[in-house]
Amino acid sequence: MNKTNSKISIIGAGNVGSTFAYALMLSGAAREIVLVDRDRKRAEGECMDLNHGMSFTRPARIYASGYEGCAGADIVVITAGAKQKPGQSRLELVQKNADIFKEIIPEVIRYAKDAILLVVTNPVDVLTYATIKISGFSPNRVLGSGTVLDSSRLRFLISQHCHVDPRNVHAYIIGEHGDSELPVWSLASIGGMVLSEYCPLCDERCDYLKTLGGIFAEVKNAAYKIIDAKGATYYAVALALVRIVEAILRDENSVLPVSSLIEGYYGIDDVCLSVPALVNRKGIVRALRLKLSEKEREQFQGSAKKLQEIIDQVKW
Ligand code: NAD
Repeated sequence: MNKTNSKISIIGAGNVGSTFAYALMLSGAAREIVLVDRDRKRAEGECMDLNHGMSFTRPARIYASGYEGCAGADIVVITAGAKQKPGQSRLELVQKNADIFKEIIPEVIRYAKDAILLVVTNPVDVLTYATIKISGFSPNRVLGSGTVLDSSRLRFLISQHCHVDPRNVHAYIIGEHGDSELPVWSLASIGGMVLSEYCPLCDERCDYLKTLGGIFAEVKNAAYKIIDAKGATYYAVALALVRIVEAILRDENSVLPVSSLIEGYYGIDDVCLSVPALVNRKGIVRALRLKLSEKEREQFQGSAKKLQEIIDQVKW
């Protein structure tokens, strides 16, 4: 089903929510975009600003609302909450944003019983798990933006180093969207060649293992660096969200490393984290069973354990 009258409600009209609304407006993917924020004046100001550009884009109805604006939404995208302060880890935010979600999610589902819920607020994996539990929705209808952004950062940096179009670089960051995430180097490829075959034949003649290590360190520290420089990250995540939303609305069966409820995956159960998953109009169809190297498997299990410990610490 490819609907032409799609409605997206965005909870949180801050940096991420309003930049996503802008990117979504430019994409033309939604016919109706609603901004909900406890700071109603801010949401109204953002909508005015967006609407004043409408003569340059495809028409859409964009307005601020209370939670009743979630009624009939195809997807509710949740970006509300406190954001990381310089030097603060995503997990340090957890209790504060978990408390905000206890308020928000019951309000959202009161109006949007049939929607897909896309969680963006950090720590995104823990809050995706919380959203499944609080909403009681089937886990396939609740997903987090996960490592879609991190994987895009990885593909960009590889593409820059290797002088290859990022669209021809296939590489995934999996696990937590945060400090314990890991790159799946064993399966990363350019033009169908895994890097361990591609790199020794390439003209760059770099010490590729060292180079890849440096690239991953840059990916992992990217949010800290950007927050230190300008206070928040929002452009790339907004584009990542448009990509996820389009995959859902257009029933694309896209493979995206979104955060989803994992069951029986390398011995991991009952935690949300990112692995490449098939995404379509129903939400998450299934997580792909990657053949990880032994080291990657251990790191992935470590990432899941860390998230499970955080989930256990939060007062729900
Ligand atoms: P922001 O402070 O600019 O915006 C947050 C908005 O949420 C504010 O407008 C605030 O009024 C609103 N809000 C807070 N509590 C609310 C409530 N109870 N009900 C309704 N609205 C409420 O922050 P931001 O830069 O937009 O970041 C938002 C979140 O997105 C943060 O948690 C940040 O860490 C996260 N983020 C995630 C990713 C990702 O890849 N998952 C990337 C960037 C940022």
